[in-house]
Amino acid sequence: MRKSQPTQLQAIAKDAVAWFAKYRRDLPWRNTRDPYRIWISECMLQQTQVATVIPYYERFLIRFPDIQSLAAANLDEVYQLWAGLGYYRRARQLHAAARSVVESGQSPFPLDRDAIAQLPGIGRYTANAVASFAYDQRCGIVEANTQRLYARLLRCKTPLSASSSQKQLWDFAEAIAIAWPLATGQLNQALMEIGSQVCKPKSPSCDQCPLQKHCLAYQHSETETIPAPKLKKQITELQEVGLLVHDSKGRWLLRRRLNSERWAGLWDFPRYDCTDIQNEGLALDRAADAFLKLYSKRPAIAQECVSVKHSVTRYRILLRCYLAQIDGKLTIGNTQGPSQEQLGWYTSEELDQLALSSSARKVADWLKKHQP
Ligand code: SF4
Repeated sequence: MRKSQPTQLQAIAKDAVAWFAKYRRDLPWRNTRDPYRIWISECMLQQTQVATVIPYYERFLIRFPDIQSLAAANLDEVYQLWAGLGYYRRARQLHAAARSVVESGQSPFPLDRDAIAQLPGIGRYTANAVASFAYDQRCGIVEANTQRLYARLLRCKTPLSASSSQKQLWDFAEAIAIAWPLATGQLNQALMEIGSQVCKPKSPSCDQCPLQKHCLAYQHSETETIPAPKLKKQITELQEVGLLVHDSKGRWLLRRRLNSERWAGLWDFPRYDCTDIQNEGLALDRAADAFLKLYSKRPAIAQECVSVKHSVTRYRILLRCYLAQIDGKLTIGNTQGPSQEQLGWYTSEELDQLALSSSARKVADWLKKHQP
């Protein structure tokens, strides 16, 4: 599509904002201009549904009403309030960004898009969303809902992930934010809401769409074929052995995952990759050897008790867990060995309070229910 003219963009913005004034959902983060609260909501809403986020958002803000309280908190407490939302990396980055704001003297919050974009874990979308919703700074937004909407308005036929598509969509987003002379925050929220509530991925509600007359995909009967389907990810299957090591008091051994690993900072049962081994006995030997190398104790591995399937990015992981025991004491706390890990013994009840990886949470729930 040719570049949209400012008058065309203003007409789209006007229709979007008028629709939003009438049909917008009343969401808790829409009743504030506080950049901190908007930022928290944006972090929680990444990859998570609105209905799921609302109670988490409210609880989080009761405990951490401002950026200073979040910066002063222990990361474990942040994880606890995040538990159930998944994607703990977001919680870790939120905490790191809060500390960075307070330490650099920018509290209560950085004052413009460029300063917000410097914070850890904040990408172009989040920086622009906070700057426009809180400060009405003239910057555009592109996220899952708006990119689908813009692609249809513009009749963008290349896959959304293609850099040419992203450039076209961002150019459009920035151009409409500049062309609209009134509140940018309202405009951006209106576009997101239309993308989410009207221009749905399948069977968009074109008959109720305030932007129908501007939509090139609609005019060309291409609303079902735009955006182009995503390219299929190449899936890699992995197999891991998990060791559920218990002591005589019925407590379970957990380790804190290292910063260099996935799910950094979360607690997990010791687990070892055995993808290349088909034989179960050999896989268990590898797990026992790896445990011995890290903690100087060789575990006696008993029967398999639970297996968990889970996916992360392009990996599909089968985690097979075995009960295990060790003789003598294990150094708990920060180990001095090659792993430099934090280890701890926890009862099934105490596991409820711990920030666990999602697969470890499934195992912990199984342990609590079955008490093996
Ligand atoms: S007319 Fe249909 S496809 Fe076009 S923007 Fe509206 S809902 Fe989306």
